[in-house]
Amino acid sequence: MSEAVSVSEGIWLVKLPLPFPVATINVFLIRCEDGFLLLDCGMKTRACREALAAALEKTGIGWIGIRRIVISHMHPDHFGLAAEVRARTGAPVWMHEAEAARSSPRFMDNDFFARHSAWLTEHGVPADETEEISEASRGISEFIEMVEVDRRLEDGDRIPIAGGELEVVVTPGHSPGLLTLYFPQRKLYFSSDHMVEKITPNVGLHTHSSENPLGDYLASLDRIRPMEIDLVLPSHGHPFHGHREWIAATEQHHHSRCERMLSAVAASPRTAYEVVNVEWGPHLSPLNERFAVAETLAHLEYMRRQGRVSAVRENGVTRWRKGG
Ligand SMILES: [Zn+2]
Repeated sequence: MSEAVSVSEGIWLVKLPLPFPVATINVFLIRCEDGFLLLDCGMKTRACREALAAALEKTGIGWIGIRRIVISHMHPDHFGLAAEVRARTGAPVWMHEAEAARSSPRFMDNDFFARHSAWLTEHGVPADETEEISEASRGISEFIEMVEVDRRLEDGDRIPIAGGELEVVVTPGHSPGLLTLYFPQRKLYFSSDHMVEKITPNVGLHTHSSENPLGDYLASLDRIRPMEIDLVLPSHGHPFHGHREWIAATEQHHHSRCERMLSAVAASPRTAYEVVNVEWGPHLSPLNERFAVAETLAHLEYMRRQGRVSAVRENGVTRWRKGG
């Protein structure tokens, strides 16, 4: 059974199943003059493909009704199925430049996993866990198909749709070129993974992130705060009201996490992996371990730029300590 829910005239929210703890992704069908725009695609799994097909049938749009595909960012749950949807519909794929570069077939070269392992080792992850994390990451790659992007969208671009236009608002942080869409005529904000109800979006520093993702993320929240938004339409969970309260709570969450991590490295210099064990405890799954190392590094790097912590690299391993 697919769930296609009308959230506003000409706009459908379609829930697709994911084999993750975050069990579903919301993709959106938005009416244009000549058909529909599909915002995000789900993963390359049978379950996603069938749920999307069922939603297209239920709404009467059909594959043929999709005239353009906008991908918010290149995480597997958002773009994994894009190449296939493009092949079925003939619709072009639009994405931001920073994400397009990371979703090209050239990006996942043979060295990708080697670079990733070296990065984990540098941040103190023991060899046996590095192997487990790399295996888990390889497993995810079967759910995606790399795609060449047909058009690069930029911040400020406008996309005509029925009843007005969508404004492209690029919000780096969760990913370097995370593309969100604002529909000013109805005060709707398609927030992708920038803002998700009841979840703090993951913000991580790693081999294909920006240099200061937490700084970018907080600046991106600052940009959204003054906007007039009646309803936030996120990629996971339920649409929600009150974007300014959500932003305040999320900023508080990151500042508290910075304080705790600062205390963790004040006692003695620690690797990111050791800080993860202080913050989350030692029993994370391999994939969560990887997210936690990246999340920790994002907070430490943010504080390093403020002169609150510094990084020392010795024998190939980076340790963090309090003070500039
Ligand atoms: Zn994401």
